Amino acid sequence: MIRVRVISARGSTPRDAGAEMFVGPASVEGTIGGGQLEYMAIDRARQMLAAGEAEAGMDIPLGPEIGQCCGGRVVLHLDRQGPTPEDHPDVLVFGAGHVGRALALALHPLPVDATLIDSRPEELAQTAPGISTKLTPLPEAEIRAARPGSAVVILTHDHALDFLLAAEALSRGNLSYVGMIGSATKRAQFTRFVRAKGIDPAPLICPIGAGFTHDKRPAVIAAFTAAELITRLTAASSLKKIPMQQLIRGRVLDFHADPHDTADNHRYIQDGAILIEDGKILAVDDYTALAREGLVEIDHRPHLILPGFIDTHIHFPQVQVIASWGAQLLDWLNTYTFPEEERFNQQGHAPAMADAFLNLLTGHGTTTAVAFCSVHPESAEALFSAAHARNMAMVAGKVMMDRNAPDAVLDTPQRGYDDSKALIARWHGTGRQRYAITPRFAITSTPEQMAMAGQLVREHPDCHVQTHLSENLEEIDFTLSLYPQARDYLDIYETHGLLSDRLLLGHSIHLRPREIARMAETGSRAVFCPTSNLFLGSGLFDEGGLRAAGVVSGIATDVGGGTSYSMLQTLNEGYKILQLRGQKLTPLSAFHWITRGNALALGMEDRIGTLAPGSMADLVVLDSRATPAMALRMERAETLEQELFILQIMGDDRSVAQTYVAGQAMKTAV
Ligand SMILES: [Zn+2]
Repeated sequence: MIRVRVISARGSTPRDAGAEMFVGPASVEGTIGGGQLEYMAIDRARQMLAAGEAEAGMDIPLGPEIGQCCGGRVVLHLDRQGPTPEDHPDVLVFGAGHVGRALALALHPLPVDATLIDSRPEELAQTAPGISTKLTPLPEAEIRAARPGSAVVILTHDHALDFLLAAEALSRGNLSYVGMIGSATKRAQFTRFVRAKGIDPAPLICPIGAGFTHDKRPAVIAAFTAAELITRLTAASSLKKIPMQQLIRGRVLDFHADPHDTADNHRYIQDGAILIEDGKILAVDDYTALAREGLVEIDHRPHLILPGFIDTHIHFPQVQVIASWGAQLLDWLNTYTFPEEERFNQQGHAPAMADAFLNLLTGHGTTTAVAFCSVHPESAEALFSAAHARNMAMVAGKVMMDRNAPDAVLDTPQRGYDDSKALIARWHGTGRQRYAITPRFAITSTPEQMAMAGQLVREHPDCHVQTHLSENLEEIDFTLSLYPQARDYLDIYETHGLLSDRLLLGHSIHLRPREIARMAETGSRAVFCPTSNLFLGSGLFDEGGLRAAGVVSGIATDVGGGTSYSMLQTLNEGYKILQLRGQKLTPLSAFHWITRGNALALGMEDRIGTLAPGSMADLVVLDSRATPAMALRMERAETLEQELFILQIMGDDRSVAQTYVAGQAMKTAV
């Protein structure tokens, strides 16, 4: 069955927004107003049924050509109703003994994907047909590779192995259920065992299927455990409830082209609205075209609503280093940054900082960031977990660095590779998370590590790659002394196979002509970090020169070398740097850059950076009169461009009235 809904109706149309009709292969219930429009919709719905399509949109001008001469325009949304294959949570059952086999059987008809795991082929051979099994000598690796939110039940033949697996599962910190068969005595032993390793035993369920029965028959234990699991998994999946549909009203602005290329580059709707369903954008239009009885409305007038900002270069472990006095790049790293990044190895530090970091981003209107984590995989794990819980699109990676820094922030070529690989397996493509392979820069990676980074890029061509290039003259000299064979700085990354349109090169200030030409040919991106470049005295980015040469640039904060989380303040300083270069950053180009432009730099413009129907509702609501000085200045603003320029120069987090991530309001006070 396909549901056809009128999403917006402009002008004089036969039915209002909200009208619905249900189309089956040979049936139609309800109406969207009859006539040719309805025939077209029924036809399209039946095509979808035949082709197995899940979702489609139709935008139909009403006029004589479709035999409906009432004028206006109608936008329809068609989607499949009824049971659809869902993304079921994984349940890993360790131990294919009597209880394990009974549990796998009990889980089989339930909405989970259960796998029975053992190292003993003869036990797995006794499993009932249709149950999925996995034979492995290394069961703990399955726990490391499990998707966040998975459930783990441990009932192996061996107490020591049970303890090892349960410790591994608890240290993940993001599984929805960790259960171990056994008695209260076994739990007490286990508690001592994991406390010694600094792991919190509290989330462990032991005994499993707790307390409901003293009956020890495998099928009975299995039934109670399956019930306990389902209870837990259903609770885990019922995230914060967002009203199914909501209408966000205000002055709506987004971009469909680069203002450098064409004057037809943006859409501005004075009394506009964004219709959101389940966190996704269904439609953007005049408020009157989308409004209807019973719809939840949030009125942000007179504020501007744009796609959420994107920050293409930021250091998550530097939230407590920002604003450290008085050094250029290399001293600044050694004096402030590396000692701070050591702390990300301490229990509990990374998760606490991840929450603070994401709150700062959304507080400043940023809904997607490309982040460097510390060398410790725990830092990336913490950031991804926190972003995943918020349904927030992050691109991040643990830095690979194996020299020229204190031991506590170094890995080795092999460890950097293995840890990155495990994080990619777990997080790349999980929800809205994406992985960036992250050799910090050539100074802190040996040629061996660079080669391993290149291998990761070959093995995972759809991951991003992020690093730093030509930020500071002293850095360039030191780099070239470490790689005497290199023709120039970029050549180091080129030789190791890192160049592509997935590569983000932070700073890219002091470039030689050959480097610029190779960046253009390979599509490698430059990333402009204005507040950082001024703060560290690094140099003036040549946006116009790179553009003329065909290099695509992103723009970013580079906190903590950068001095503000605000993309508005980033535009302010960027404007001044380009002034010193004799170049202009117009208000439309500026706001295009921090939304669609940065999405293009990431190759993610189909998902973020615009208000295109079907994309997640990541939005920022901007108040151009947020401070008395802005309000006074705004009295004389006559055009949208003038208003945008005031925001670009005077705005910061005080101008961010609200930020939505996947339709969820992130600022508590509006
Ligand atoms: Zn940086």
